[in-house]
Amino acid sequence: MQTWAIANQKGGVGKTTTTVALGSLLAAAGERTLLIDMDPHASLSGYIGVEGGTHGSVYDLFGTSGNAIPLPVRTLVHATRWDRLSVLPASAAMITLDRQLGTRAGQGLVLSQALAELAPDFDHVLLDCPPTLGVLMVNALAASDRLVVPTQTEALALAGLERMLRSLSMIERSRGRPLPRTIVPTLYDARTHASRACLAQLREQYGDSVSEAVIPTDTQIREASAAGIPLASWPAAKRGGMAYRQLLDELRLPAREASVASSARDAAA
Ligand code: ADP
Ligand code: MG
Repeated sequence: MQTWAIANQKGGVGKTTTTVALGSLLAAAGERTLLIDMDPHASLSGYIGVEGGTHGSVYDLFGTSGNAIPLPVRTLVHATRWDRLSVLPASAAMITLDRQLGTRAGQGLVLSQALAELAPDFDHVLLDCPPTLGVLMVNALAASDRLVVPTQTEALALAGLERMLRSLSMIERSRGRPLPRTIVPTLYDARTHASRACLAQLREQYGDSVSEAVIPTDTQIREASAAGIPLASWPAAKRGGMAYRQLLDELRLPAREASVASSARDAAA
């Protein structure tokens, strides 16, 4: 099972859009995919139409609900209308977790433990993160094999990216192994100087960490989310859909290379 965190310490940069787009493309490609809504604002849950308030949510993983016996994690996972696409939703109560857990030690691996329980059921897990560094973000980064940082191509967004990368190096130190990252330029409008200048700056400053794929501003992406339909099932989003497909190919490359290398090793053995 591969787990990717989609995070940036800024709102409105395309985190939720990217999570749903990549998740729906993975599911359409045959992978059993779980989307986890780590953001108390619950945008992803609302987009997909699974409300955490009544169904249980990420909140319940943290054992603060007063249940004497922890719930089996599977009971919090919901199928969606789309084949192979499941959701573990968020709820507003998650906003209180930092206050409730602030002083308790050992709360950073709660999500990793929950995912270990789900590993037989899924090939891929995508974590839609909140824009703040707290217990939810720390859990997400601790549980991930890759970090995807959607970054809006405008000057003000670079500060959010820098904050995110600082948090990442702090968390990498505590997890003791590096977390590969991919910065994804989003909301790109080639007609504006601001977008072009920002993309050039991203490439200059962050080099290979920036994806080749650039996600354009595509009003059909907004239409799809307003209709509650993931991108893979919204053919009108041609430009956006193509860009997200290209991004997914790039993100899957390291895993493919590793599996080719391991089958080559097996063949040689
Ligand atoms: P975040 O999760 O980072 O807060 P969202 O994914 O919710 O950001 O995106 C913020 C808003 O921008 C949403 O209304 C979404 O539909 C819209 N949006 C995101 N990406 C695009 C895009 N490539 N083209 C057009 N609209 C987009
Ligand atoms: Mg969001």
